[in-house]
Amino acid sequence: MKPHAVFVPVPAQGHVTPMMTLAKLFHSKGFHITFVNTEFNHQRLINSRGPDSVRGLPDFRFETIPDGLPLPDDLNATQPVPDLLHAFRNNMLLPFRNLIQRLNNNSKSSLLSPSSENILPPVTCIVSDGMMSFGLKVGVELGIPVALFWTASACGLICYLHFSQLIERGLVPLEDESDLTNGYLDTKIDWIPGMKDIRLRDLPSFVRTMDTRDIYFDYFIRELAGMNEATTLIVNTFDALEKDVLDALKSEQLSLPPLYTIGPVHQLLHHDATTGTMKNHPSAKTTSIGINLWKEETDCLKWLDSGKPNSVVYVNFGSITTMTTQQLIEFAWGLANSKHSFLWIVRSDIVKGDTANLPPEFAEETKERGLLASWCPQEKVLNHPAIGAFLTHSGWNSTIESICGGVPVICYPFFSEQHTNCRYSCIDWGIGIEIDHKVTRNEVEKSVKELLEGEKGKEMKHRAMEWKQKAEDAIAPGGSSFVNLDELVNELSQTSKQSEI
Ligand code: UDP
Repeated sequence: MKPHAVFVPVPAQGHVTPMMTLAKLFHSKGFHITFVNTEFNHQRLINSRGPDSVRGLPDFRFETIPDGLPLPDDLNATQPVPDLLHAFRNNMLLPFRNLIQRLNNNSKSSLLSPSSENILPPVTCIVSDGMMSFGLKVGVELGIPVALFWTASACGLICYLHFSQLIERGLVPLEDESDLTNGYLDTKIDWIPGMKDIRLRDLPSFVRTMDTRDIYFDYFIRELAGMNEATTLIVNTFDALEKDVLDALKSEQLSLPPLYTIGPVHQLLHHDATTGTMKNHPSAKTTSIGINLWKEETDCLKWLDSGKPNSVVYVNFGSITTMTTQQLIEFAWGLANSKHSFLWIVRSDIVKGDTANLPPEFAEETKERGLLASWCPQEKVLNHPAIGAFLTHSGWNSTIESICGGVPVICYPFFSEQHTNCRYSCIDWGIGIEIDHKVTRNEVEKSVKELLEGEKGKEMKHRAMEWKQKAEDAIAPGGSSFVNLDELVNELSQTSKQSEI
């Protein structure tokens, strides 16, 4: 009987994508997969990719659970994050537990009348997003091993794990609004293990609060508190990239479960599909399963084909962040004034509560060298030779995908651990420069020119190519992530067998 893993991601693009990638890797290693979307995202997937996209395979099935939230105004956007956090805490444990029990009941029936197509193995492990705890609670309650998959950076994780110490040390809450601008955020933080030269402003943005009961700050303290009850912890990074932080996360002091780095997970899958076990294996069928929640516009790849190597700036702020019209306009004119070519992904919901209207003069000025689209196949874009720089919000997937493409970054972090990723990109890895939060067109223009024309830009490109090589080493046979994936799968297959006994 195959082991059966149930994957349950945070219902946002930056989480469902790496979770799906890991599910495909598990499938290629012989697991039966159940992939759980919220009903809301299930419908979005059908809207963006058609009804066939959720049919799955006999041994790779989709299931849904409700999030208990009212339908938002915009059905084609990530739901408001505070609402989602509320749902993880209060609404989703019960439906998830019911689902696991239903799967196990169905498994019993399927075993009574076995036909190879319909066999459903009992659930032997849960792979739950590390940012929410209901999957872990259900696993503990039902005696099913749980692997927590932290889809963001290790440097982000270690910061969240020290949120309560910020209170103990009197650093949070902030006294009042003035602390946001009076230099307080430059306070040195030299006590988080594995991190050096970090300031309060480099920690996830949720520390910038005047109230420790703030939904975000409080959420991370409580949801991560039970992590040590998991069987394993998986992180989408690679050893060379975040060595010091990973060593600290593995130290006894933090009492976390055994930690496996398996990143960049999308590269590992790509490697497996083209040269590894998945090639010529029934799992190759999973390559047609996609999880993009927006309709992809692929014409931009053809447009890039006409660009010279390293000549185009790619601009994308991910799937959640929103900005003001004024910020949008500063970015627009900064790009236009740089005189460089650009591919800019402007999501329909990028401006909060408004439509993203760019001035007609901007369209006229840039029509020969700019392309706007609303969603693109980002991994492919970042691997296109024409891309010379990435203006990014420093979300973790974007950061690691940029590293895999050998593309230096211009960072404009908005919230969460994007600030931490930005700090590491600019200081520790030497692949980026940061734009000040009060973005101006001059700074955007200067940054683009610096990356595409300046000496600093050349140095950053060089460093980005070095990191790209290190990422390739990590996922190649014998590399740290390659080996860790095998060990992880073995560990989960073993613990699964034990839990069946
Ligand atoms: N993405 C994409 N096309 C787009 C924008 C984003 O495929 O036009 C993907 C991107 O490749 C990444 C994810 O969406 O895998 C965004 O995750 P990230 O962690 O960078 O940011 P978030 O959206 O979580 O803020």
